[in-house]
Amino acid sequence: MATPGAPSEVAGKIIFSDSEIALRVDELGAAITADYSGRDLVLVTILKGGIFFLADLSRRIDLPLTTDFMAVSSYFGGSPGNVRITKDLDDSIQGRDVLIVEDIIDTGLTLNYVIKNLRSRGPASLEICTLLDKDVRRIVELPIAYRGFTVADRFLIGYGLDLRGRYRNLPFLAELHEVALL
Ligand code: 5GP
Repeated sequence: MATPGAPSEVAGKIIFSDSEIALRVDELGAAITADYSGRDLVLVTILKGGIFFLADLSRRIDLPLTTDFMAVSSYFGGSPGNVRITKDLDDSIQGRDVLIVEDIIDTGLTLNYVIKNLRSRGPASLEICTLLDKDVRRIVELPIAYRGFTVADRFLIGYGLDLRGRYRNLPFLAELHEVALL
């Protein structure tokens, strides 16, 4: 197998620069700070892509929040929307104000499963914050309370989004460079 290219070689057109992302994350953090003041906020992120956004967003929220993590495997057994929890939350969310922090929502099938599962645990509230909304591809409608950017139907890498496990560490969001498509 060919050696994977360096991130700087694989990234093509930059869709959102690191400073554009930082500005939007600031705005989202301010909105969440205002909305969740006096409440018992827990940020729940789905591994692995969401941790980059979570790390930046949580530092822009001026509240005594906690964080927790889930991992899911999608598409096992072949049919989309067929989701299995491979790592569950560490703590109970009963009676707490849960905000799911996602990198990107595409079809919505994965998150639809996660939401149903979390709702059954009796949180005080359950909302979604996604950095990217690929809304043209949506199959299941989801109530998105906070949205960073709406994006077109293009495959993106960076800022948590991967290509076969790599390139999450690009500081910006980019399309693939043509050579990476070969
Ligand atoms: P869905 O909403 O279709 O259930 O799945 C969302 C997941 O698909 C995301 O968490 C991400 O892993 C993956 N995904 C969707 N669009 C993209 C994209 O443009 N780039 C990358 N790297 N992953 C994507």
